[in-house]
Amino acid sequence: MSTTATRKAMPSALTFDLIAKCSTTKARASTLHLPHGAVPLPIFMPVATQASLKGLTPEQLAQTGCMLCLNNTYHLGLKPGQAVLDQVGGAHKLQGWDRNILTDSGGFQMVSLLKLAKVTEEGVRFLSPHDGTPMLLTPEHSISLQNSIGSDIIMQLDDVIVTTSPDKARMKEAMERSVRWLDRCIDAHKYPERQNLFCIIQGGLDLEMRRQCCAEMVARDTPGIAIGGLSGGEAKEDFCKVVDTCTGLLPEKKPRYVMGVGYPEDLVVSVALGADMFDCVWPTRTARFGNAVTSYGTYNLRNHSYAADFSPIEEGCECICCRSTEKGGLGITKAYIHHLAAKETVGAHLLTMHNVHYLLSLMGSVRQAIIEDRYPDFLREFFEKLYKNKSDIPKWAVEALRGVGVDLLSE
Ligand SMILES: [Zn+2]
Repeated sequence: MSTTATRKAMPSALTFDLIAKCSTTKARASTLHLPHGAVPLPIFMPVATQASLKGLTPEQLAQTGCMLCLNNTYHLGLKPGQAVLDQVGGAHKLQGWDRNILTDSGGFQMVSLLKLAKVTEEGVRFLSPHDGTPMLLTPEHSISLQNSIGSDIIMQLDDVIVTTSPDKARMKEAMERSVRWLDRCIDAHKYPERQNLFCIIQGGLDLEMRRQCCAEMVARDTPGIAIGGLSGGEAKEDFCKVVDTCTGLLPEKKPRYVMGVGYPEDLVVSVALGADMFDCVWPTRTARFGNAVTSYGTYNLRNHSYAADFSPIEEGCECICCRSTEKGGLGITKAYIHHLAAKETVGAHLLTMHNVHYLLSLMGSVRQAIIEDRYPDFLREFFEKLYKNKSDIPKWAVEALRGVGVDLLSE
């Protein structure tokens, strides 16, 4: 492995204000100041794949309170393509979004979407999905694309292996290669004074490998740090161990982003383990199947039991759909979504708005509870609402929270 870097400090386009720390768990509340405004952390970032959150206009996304959303470099690089992005002046202008954007490196999309993708030291080789011509995504090319997109946070290209892979040698190679690729990304980055490069900790479920990777990555001093490669079908117990181990080794004054996490219970537990930022396509994707995410669980509004249910998706929800017309909302009922969900895209749009709003407001409540130093109580209330019986609370959540001083099962 390359030895710990002796590089000059990298410029940063963010400031990270740590506002409060939970006195029991490892949870933190902070404010991340990015080029397009202040972002309260912890935060859930919705994924706007093609520079649009499926079903929402940028205005509607802004109404959910979203200050930072994700765009996919792979999709934007294919269409509209780098030349158009350069011409228009980046993705903020392209989509009429004046808040913050985070882009992924494009590598994960390739490896997961394209069967023929092959990773070599040079980069990720694949065949163009358009015309089958051989193409190569290198760390330099990924950064160049993200420089053209102009996102406020850009991600390094990493070598991603599914965490459940039994091939230890390949896992080690991927982890070490990700460190080498980070160095190439740092060298290729043209605008460190206005775009923040995040490194990505790899190493699968092997905690020793994760520790080594943390040491190497932290030494590179990027403005923020991501924990990658998770949410790939590993056991939740293993997921929690990796997050807990990594956050224990990361500098306190930098944002920590756990990639690919979006179920409400995963978010609140990861926050207790010391993570600040999350993204996932799940709340928007599941909306397209008629699923509403609420404090009492996720339920499918296509079910006939909602055909004549004239209550809002969630009682007390402040999203534009659930809010009454007297309070300036749309006053949408479960019955109406049920009526639409099967055939009309507007049903999916309405549910997307609610689901994104739910996760953003959940994280807002998490933040407030940390600031008021009552996060352990918040966690107990959260799980009690979600699971009527304490015995139904998943064991992994009970164990992970016990590890940071919270007993969900105590009276
Ligand atoms: Zn709602």
